[in-house]
Amino acid sequence: MIAGATRKRWPPDTREAGIVCPKCGCAHLYVRNTRYSMGRIVRYRECRHCGRHMTTYEVLPSMLTDRLS
Ligand SMILES: [Zn+2]
Repeated sequence: MIAGATRKRWPPDTREAGIVCPKCGCAHLYVRNTRYSMGRIVRYRECRHCGRHMTTYEVLPSMLTDRLS
């Protein structure tokens, strides 16, 4: 299927995470540490290719609901 081939431009796992290395652009990141801070999940990631470190923050939907109510 040609349509299926064109849709493979972005791997599904990359779109799901939405995180790519700002230096080399790859989406293969290790999670070095995970902790909770101010109601958020803080993850320290490291690029598998170039070793660049970055921090990501995640907020759970349940946490947002608790703050609004
Ligand atoms: Zn990288």
